[in-house]
Amino acid sequence: MINILNFILDILFPSICINCGARVRGLDYHICPYCRDELKPAENSCPVCGGLVNSGDCTICNSRKVYMSGNIPVYEYSGSVKKLLHGLKFHSLRNAYRIFVPGMAAAAASIVVKPDLITPVPMSRRKLAERGYNQSFLIASALGRYLDIPCVHLLKERPGFRSQRGLGRLERYINVIDRYKACDINKFSGRTVLLVDDVFTTGSTINECSRQLLRCGAYAVYSITVARADPDKLTI
Ligand SMILES: [Zn+2]
Ligand SMILES: [Zn+2]
Repeated sequence: MINILNFILDILFPSICINCGARVRGLDYHICPYCRDELKPAENSCPVCGGLVNSGDCTICNSRKVYMSGNIPVYEYSGSVKKLLHGLKFHSLRNAYRIFVPGMAAAAASIVVKPDLITPVPMSRRKLAERGYNQSFLIASALGRYLDIPCVHLLKERPGFRSQRGLGRLERYINVIDRYKACDINKFSGRTVLLVDDVFTTGSTINECSRQLLRCGAYAVYSITVARADPDKLTI
């Protein structure tokens, strides 16, 4: 029955691959099987912060404290990954995140302890009203179902902060200070939390979220992001 329904939906609402333009089924989530196989995994990740290590040096964490016990960026923010995330965030391709979930679940297996809770990086009310959904929540809840870990809202974004888009490295560090607050400390006191976000650029956002969770009583925070952007190309 579900197959028949999908067949009808594919005829009524044909979709194309976001990368090569080939016609795809609805269940392919905007990317054809060929381009899906080409998604580029993040490599040379810093063991401390997950940033890109060049010539043995991590430019993200060598000059500041990192609050995560570990961060896993799963793909490089380029090619089809970048197009899918842009579609998800700016062109209402709400299902585009689904393609990343199995790869993220496999990557999360490298975390040494199983987290008690999964939570997304929160989104301001204003932005949520604009977009209609928090893409990090969609990813976190799907990942939670995959890993059998409860996904809960643990943080809120305070109003009045600028978007990180268009800001330089130092501005990004400053712009997130005290941006987040805990929703309900009883939910995560003494627990290990897995924080989920879409793109890791300078790590400022997940580091500040981790700091706040630890300050409010979390035992440890790990984080995972769909992709890692090059902080030297801050144009996302
Ligand atoms: Zn394609
Ligand atoms: Zn690092």
